[in-house]
Amino acid sequence: MIFDLHSHSNYSDGILSPAALMSRAKSKGVTALALTDHDTIAGLRDAQQAADENDVVLIPGIEFSSQWGKIGVHIVGLGIAPESDVLASAIIEQHQSRITRAQAIADRLAKLGFRGALEGAQQIAGEALVGRPHFARHLVEIGAVRQPQDAFKKFLGTGKPADVKYQWPDIHQIIGWIHAAGGQAVLAHPLKYQLTATKMRALITDFAAAGGDALEVISGQQSHADTEALARLATDKKLSASCGSDFHTPDQRWQELGNFGSLPAHCHPVWRRLGFAA
Ligand code: MN
Ligand code: MN
Ligand code: MN
Repeated sequence: MIFDLHSHSNYSDGILSPAALMSRAKSKGVTALALTDHDTIAGLRDAQQAADENDVVLIPGIEFSSQWGKIGVHIVGLGIAPESDVLASAIIEQHQSRITRAQAIADRLAKLGFRGALEGAQQIAGEALVGRPHFARHLVEIGAVRQPQDAFKKFLGTGKPADVKYQWPDIHQIIGWIHAAGGQAVLAHPLKYQLTATKMRALITDFAAAGGDALEVISGQQSHADTEALARLATDKKLSASCGSDFHTPDQRWQELGNFGSLPAHCHPVWRRLGFAA
């Protein structure tokens, strides 16, 4: 089987519907895809139907935002039970944090002269909760910037005037939620946090001590050296290894479904914990 254990649909900040995502997975040779939308499982029902139609195995997932000290980290839950009550209330809690933050971003933008940003961003978000990418696209639409990246550079990015920080639950809490829902907790894209080697080791040590199950050893296109280093860390800390594209949109070819290297042979692939032998 070909596993891609991290992807997004338009139920969070992805572009494709779950159905389009599943048929794209099929066309890219992925045989088992985890849908891991940010803090929501709302896309899983559509995804399951499309998975059946395309003969792709859907692994029900979610990507939770969490906090490790001052650093925001993401924890993916794989193989979660969508009907879990704990999961349902966890999602409500996370949504409230997002709504509060979106309102605060809109307030900052209004002070900069951009009124109605929350409504504009909500229109773009559709079914999804409003996040920074939606504000960025709104700012392009009203002609405030040329491209979404420019919106981050000028307004939304770290240290910019409309940068509003979240306070997310800590890693213990998130891992607890995922376990209560019967899932495997995976520390997502460790390289994205831009930590020193020492901090990286400390994060992974804490994650393992908090009961985390796996490390995302591969996230999309990355160097062989990075893969080897993360694989060694995972093995050292007795964590399983996960791999995924973190697919959001067909425009980003370095995050295409299924388009990443293989896990090193000494890794224990997290799919074994999910009941797959391959
Ligand atoms: Mn995302
Ligand atoms: Mn993430
Ligand atoms: Mn992601």
